[in-house]
Amino acid sequence: MATETPLNPDSTPSGARETHGFQAEVRELLKLMIHSLYSHREIFLRELISNASDACDRLRFAAIADSALLAEDPELGIRIDADPAAGTVTLTDNGIGMTREEAITDLGTIARSGTAEFFRSLSGDEQKASQLIGQFGVGFYSAFIVAERVEVRSRKAGAAPTAGVRWESGADGEFTVETITLPARGTAVTLHLKADAKEFADPMRLRALIRRYSDHIGFAVRMRKEGEASLEYEVVNQAKALWTLPRTEISEDEYKQFYQYLAHDFTDPLAWSHNKVEGKREYISLLYLPARAPFDLWQRDAPRGLKLYVRRVFIMDDAEQFLPLYLRFVKGVVDSSDLPLNVSRELLQQDAEVEAIRNGLTKRVLDLLARLMKEEPQKYATIWKEFGVVLKEGIAQDHASQAAILPLLRFASTHESHDNPTVSLADYLARMKPGQERIYYVIAESLAAARGSPAIERLKEQGLEVLLLAERIDEWIMGQLDTYEGKRFKDASRGDLELGTLTSAADRQQHDAELKESKGLLKRIKDSLGERVTEVRVSERLRESPACLVLGEHDLTEQMRRILSAAGQKPPDARPVLEINVGHPLVKYLDRLADQAGFTELAQLLFDQAALAEGAPLANPPEYVQRLNRLLVRLAAPGAAS
Ligand code: ADP
Ligand code: MG
Repeated sequence: MATETPLNPDSTPSGARETHGFQAEVRELLKLMIHSLYSHREIFLRELISNASDACDRLRFAAIADSALLAEDPELGIRIDADPAAGTVTLTDNGIGMTREEAITDLGTIARSGTAEFFRSLSGDEQKASQLIGQFGVGFYSAFIVAERVEVRSRKAGAAPTAGVRWESGADGEFTVETITLPARGTAVTLHLKADAKEFADPMRLRALIRRYSDHIGFAVRMRKEGEASLEYEVVNQAKALWTLPRTEISEDEYKQFYQYLAHDFTDPLAWSHNKVEGKREYISLLYLPARAPFDLWQRDAPRGLKLYVRRVFIMDDAEQFLPLYLRFVKGVVDSSDLPLNVSRELLQQDAEVEAIRNGLTKRVLDLLARLMKEEPQKYATIWKEFGVVLKEGIAQDHASQAAILPLLRFASTHESHDNPTVSLADYLARMKPGQERIYYVIAESLAAARGSPAIERLKEQGLEVLLLAERIDEWIMGQLDTYEGKRFKDASRGDLELGTLTSAADRQQHDAELKESKGLLKRIKDSLGERVTEVRVSERLRESPACLVLGEHDLTEQMRRILSAAGQKPPDARPVLEINVGHPLVKYLDRLADQAGFTELAQLLFDQAALAEGAPLANPPEYVQRLNRLLVRLAAPGAAS
């Protein structure tokens, strides 16, 4: 940075000053910045340095096509000047700069929708809010956490000296812009610090913060040398692209700091993987597993992906082509030596090179997860809690990686008394009974409902473990699973239980005898229920409950029907199989009921109860209540007219 920068005081106004109102969202956000953020106020510095660094990155990128843009001042960098007496800090960069129009839009609106509502919803949780500011792409406005007035002077690279812009705001809902003359390209942001934030004009404090938060941006951050009248500048940060250094030269702390810079996060990452691939294909990757899910993990349009560099030149943020959707929680950098510098998002989508890198990175992340699972189970438990539901999507999205994902899955289970998903498939296999050939699971609306499902009474009695599932996506995920280590997955609420040799000869005999004895009863029930069921059967599942509904292997579950209905589709009519527990007193009573009207009533009640137990809606709730009440009346006052 040899030449003059926009900080130069002889910048002269040459256009009328114009006043603009901030977008409503920005006004809301500024209120929050000014009135409720007291902790981590220093993040403003990280955000403004990050913007300056982005501006340098963008200019370097633009100069690939038009080298003249850089020519007059080729060494990109950032300068920070503090004036404790005046209570000001100025950050100057010789990056891409802004035109007047860009200053109005970029520093007056928020690009992403829904931001203000989100921040409002945080009401009072300032800790969280300050952590999210950078992630949200509203970093510039964090200047107002410490400044009562902010001045920005900028000249776009390639624009005439007379086309500079001066932007200023006191965060009172408005800002002004005027056209000025600036001797050099780039941007200078001057903060007029609030009375209680003057500490940030202390050069010592600033140096410490720069080293802490911005050590590993790719550009030099310079400050005046210490000593009264020094006019010389020195570099205060490392200014080396961290990922290009050998692993042995990077400390644990540096890795963590780089993550925080990259992810705009305060928490340390849980783990990372830093690799250099050489040979036919060359690239470096540095991938991090965060310790917490970002607020927008479930937002479709949330930015995701890696920061892409090509031979150290920044190309783009959020390059999503380098990781599959189910690994969208991974943060990091990929630096390719083979891609062209002018690569676009469109090109990335069809590039075979990118596809190969993506496969390599996917494997790295899955390996890292597997290593964490083995060596640091506590950390892995955190990963599963924060990202398990996302990771699971991989089962359906990435068949090629299924074998690597399966061991990573965690389930709640009938063999655990708590609902934390801690059971792995390996745990399950180790506890299988001799002769057990299936991995049983059941899916319900909640884990409590899964645990209490009539469909697994028999399995529980025999001490066979059942995996319990209750996430929205479980239906879809489990449907994709075939086997694990040669054992088939089996939904306990569908078709046969497929117990094989686990059914003893005595059991089978008893079942056969029950079948024979119950033929008449089954037919009477079927006749009473008519079209509501496809079949009535003697159950091998039930122990405590009198009846349950069972789906065919390929029928839609209740959960799936609800999802379809919610999406505005009409699922085909449900016609399940009714299974009855012929040993149950209520069923025995039913069998003895000669009175046909009473029989039908009770049979219908059993059917409705079975539907209720699995969370299905009743066809006619008032009718059900009346039926139940008639029965209760008979019980309470035998002989009374019904
Ligand atoms: P983000 O950096 O996530 O885009 P910010 O609120 O930090 O969000 O900045 C908003 C926009 O203002 C940037 O995208 C950029 O266009 C512009 N901007 C901010 N600082 C600078 C700068 N130093 N040089 C050029 N443009 C800048
Ligand atoms: Mg920013």
